[in-house]
Amino acid sequence: MVYPVLAASNKIESMLTFELPHMLTESEMLIITSLLSITHNFRSLLDESQKDKLTGLLNRQTFEANINKISSLTLNSELGQYQDTSNRNRRRPKTGKEKFCLAIIDIDNFKSINDKFGHVMGDEVLLLLSYVMKQNFRAKDLLFRFGGEEFVVIFLAPGKEEACQVLERFRTKIEAYRFPQINAITVSIGATLIGEMYHLASEILGRADQALYYAKHNGRNQLHFYETLLESGCIDDRKESGSIDFF
Ligand code: GH3
Ligand code: MG
Ligand code: MG
Repeated sequence: MVYPVLAASNKIESMLTFELPHMLTESEMLIITSLLSITHNFRSLLDESQKDKLTGLLNRQTFEANINKISSLTLNSELGQYQDTSNRNRRRPKTGKEKFCLAIIDIDNFKSINDKFGHVMGDEVLLLLSYVMKQNFRAKDLLFRFGGEEFVVIFLAPGKEEACQVLERFRTKIEAYRFPQINAITVSIGATLIGEMYHLASEILGRADQALYYAKHNGRNQLHFYETLLESGCIDDRKESGSIDFF
């Protein structure tokens, strides 16, 4: 007998196989049904503990495990298992040189939104922004709410230029989005590429945060890449800055 095990999304996640020398009796069927229901509930609990309660995005607690997994995939050039196999991107050629990009997305002047419209409307903005994020990025991309009005996304891109296009498209989408009552908001984005050398999660995050810090101090509503800022001498690699509290 083969039984499907459903994930929280109700998609079949795995199969449980039972080999018995006879037809299932009613009491055996009952045991199996209970077992499947326990497995499903346990899966759901695990899923819930990894998610941010308001937006349903991954929470910060899961970040370190995810980034360490990505760093080791990058080191071992095993990116294939993360590459998108959906129909949407079937025509895009695979170069085999794709890189992970990490970006911190921070809502501009969010405190004033809370002050003017109240905390509940502020929460509504966070929720709607997470919807736009889910639409803008692919199913395999990792989307986190890091806390407050800070979000992190990790996705694969053929290079910095393409990663830039993806993030710039998101930034302009948010700029054009009309939030009920509040109208328009903007976001600042700091990004970095995850290289082939091993780096600590805090180092990778620190780079994106330096780029975010630069965006905030140069007018907000803009995207900056750590690598570009470094090349152009706008920042130096010893500078510690930014707003993220590291681990
Ligand atoms: P900046 O453009 O420099 O990022 O300014 P900011 O006002 O967005 O940033 P700041 O860090 O000064 O304020 C963030 C605010 O986010 C302060 C806090 O009250 C609010 N906040 C944090 N978590 C939540 C939440 O879960 N819901 C709501 N509604 N507000 C939150
Ligand atoms: Mg902010
Ligand atoms: Mg912030």
